[in-house]
This record gives sequence, structure tokens and C-alpha cells, in this order.
Amino acid sequence: MSDPKSSNQESSIPRRLNEKNVGQSTLSIWGGEQEHELYERATQVPVVHSVSYTYKDIDTWQNVALEKEPGHIYSRNTNPTVRAFEDKVKELEGAEAATSFSSGMAAISNVLGTFLKPGDRVVSIKDSYGGTNKIFNDFLPPLNIEVTLCNTVDYEAIEAEIIKGCKILYLETPTNPTIKIMDIKRLAAAAKKVDALVVVDNTFATPINQNPLALGADIVLHSASKYLGGHADALGGVICGSKVLVKQVYHYREINGATLSPMDAYSFIRGMKTLKLRVERQNDNAMTMALWLEKHPMVEQVNYPGLESHANHDVAKSQMRGYGGMLSFSVKGGLDAIKIFLPKLKYAHMAANLGCVETVVGPPVTTSHVECSVEERAAAGIPEGLVRYSAGIEDIADLITDMEQALEYLC
Ligand SMILES: *Cc1c(COP(=O)(O)O)cnc(C)c1O
Repeated sequence: MSDPKSSNQESSIPRRLNEKNVGQSTLSIWGGEQEHELYERATQVPVVHSVSYTYKDIDTWQNVALEKEPGHIYSRNTNPTVRAFEDKVKELEGAEAATSFSSGMAAISNVLGTFLKPGDRVVSIKDSYGGTNKIFNDFLPPLNIEVTLCNTVDYEAIEAEIIKGCKILYLETPTNPTIKIMDIKRLAAAAKKVDALVVVDNTFATPINQNPLALGADIVLHSASKYLGGHADALGGVICGSKVLVKQVYHYREINGATLSPMDAYSFIRGMKTLKLRVERQNDNAMTMALWLEKHPMVEQVNYPGLESHANHDVAKSQMRGYGGMLSFSVKGGLDAIKIFLPKLKYAHMAANLGCVETVVGPPVTTSHVECSVEERAAAGIPEGLVRYSAGIEDIADLITDMEQALEYLC
């Protein structure tokens, strides 16, 4: 501030947010936007539906292409709308850099594709997202990449596998659909000892509730299709980390082509302005619903990290600011009971997604573990009578009344 040169620069960009102590709501709203030239004084980020960008002279064009000057060349690489979205997430994750993808799975496969070579080893968990689990089991082994999947909450066993040496430690917390919690700080510390890259899928927690980079992760990633967008109307993924790491993944993605579309980026920017409001409400709704379900006679078990009964409540408490909008619970009577009571809910979609403003419910049989056999689900500790519940932002009194009348059909 005392240097006149830098204060001149500041006055030309009045709303720069790279100051400390800016709150998460402010970041969700202004993050990424003040860095961009707004189109003809429009207050909102424009949707730039342009494949390419034109130049009047070859030298400038070449300088932009060589990244010596800021600008865009071709939208598979960069696009102004897409960049505003990336910068918004970057601010919320407290990262140096971010890049985005056409889906959450593209983010995951591009991160793995960037850093893994034949002969490398990955350590991860059995409870990772279904698509991620498929990559680990079906797509990496034929490339001569060894994958070791550990029991999710056996931290000691995971540490023992890490210490044997690995290129990537891949974590996800909370997990789907049994809402297990992994100790990011503890496992990242073990990974540092063997120079492994720590990647964390933060989709369920959102940056509002958890910032894995601050806990020792190298790369944090999201399916933006869930909480970031929040309205179940756009597909995308995003990763954040150091400039050096993100640049490598960006390069892999710009060549392989899993680019986020500007219209979806715009939906995410718009959705993210209410991210904190939504997530705080979802945290509250999930907590109240979990406490209510725990007392219901037809409910066998409730999995929610905010409950004292959760096996890793203490870890959740120390690494999360809120416990999230996702819970699961099992009912007496298994899948047959679920088939009776779930369709009776008036204020919940029975659907495969999660993290949106509407409450969404579904059993693992049709969502996360649709491709598994009954035996495989049992081996993974997933009861057939489990319901995954993504709390929306409706009034909690209505959600509980609704749940009560639906569960009546089982009594
Ligand atoms: C949905 C989801 C993904 C995959 O994201 P898509 O956008 O559907 O490709 C990855 N991880 C988690 C935890 C998810 O919930």
C-alpha cells in the first residue's frame, strides 16, 4: 500500500479480493469476477460463446499463445466465462490456481492421467465414488498401475500402505453412501514422507465446510455438478492446487479436450453466489433430520458426521466447519421397505444426483452402487435397506412432516 506504483495498480482494479479476512459469502459472490473485464459495464460475467479469439497482429497473437501476455486463443484451452468460475472456486479453496473440466469424472480421470505412469502405485479407499472406483479397478491396472484400496476408516492400515511407497494418495471425505470420515491431516502427513501427491475429492463437504489444501492436500477436486452449481442443471468439475501442479493438469486437459462449456460455467457462477447460504441451510437441515431419524422406531442406523454416535465424529469436528448436507440411514425391512416408503415422499426427488436445492433421495442399489451385486454391497458394508439423503434447502419442519408420513407406511 505504501508503494505508489502498487497502489496505482490497485486503483485500476478496485474490487480485488486477494486480501486476508474476506468471508466465504463475499468470496462466493465477488471471487473471480473482479479480475475480469466486464463486458460493456454489465454487472454480470458474460457467457462468451466463442470458439476462438481474434488478433490484429501476429506478434500479440503469438505472445498470448506463448502465455507471455494475458488473453485467450481457443476455448478448448481457456475461455473468459470458464476462467471466472475457476477463479471463484480458487478463492474459496484458498489455492494458487484452478482449472476446470466437463464433469467431475473428467477432473478425476485427468488428474490421474496427468501424474500416473506405468509402474506407479496409487493408494486409496474402498468407499470412493462409484466412477472413481471403476477407474481404480478396471482402467488403471491394464496400464500397469498398481492400485491398493484400503478400508476407509482403518487409518493405520492406510498409513502402512502409504509408507510402502506410492505416487498418489487419493482420498474422499465424507464418503458415499455410508458417510465415512477420513483424517486428511494425518494421512497427508504420511504421504509427505514418501513424496506422494495427496488428492482429495471435496465434493460432499464443499469449500464452505472443508478446505483440504489447508490440511496438507496437494490437489482438491470437486464435481461442480453437485453443491457448487447447486441447482442440478449443469455438469462440470474443477481442481485447485499450486500453480506448478495445476498447470500440468491444465495442459493434459487442454490437449485431451474434456473442457467445461461456457454456459455450464455461467450456471456455476450464478449458483455459487448463494453457495454459503445454501450449504449452511443444508448443514442445519441434515443435522436436524439425522437427530430426528435416530429416534424413529423404523430406522436402524443413521450415518451423519455431526452425530456423536458417528465413529469419526471427532475427526469431522476437527477438520470440518460444518458437517454437510449428506446423510444416510437404514430402515427395517430392507429394499422392500424402501420401495414402499421412498415414493411416498412429497418433497424429495428419487434421483441419482445430490447437493442441489431440492431434497434428493435414493438407495445405493440405484445410485452409488448400482453396478454391484448384493454380495458386493454386503461386503462393502452397505445394507440393502440404506437410503442416501441429500438435504435440500426446504423448510425443515416440512421435510420432517414429509418423512414422518412416508415412514408411517412401514409401521
Ligand atoms: C458426482 C460425484 C463425482 C462425479 O462427478 P460428475 O460431475 O457426475 O462426473 C465424483 N465424486 C463425487 C464425490 C461425486 O459425488
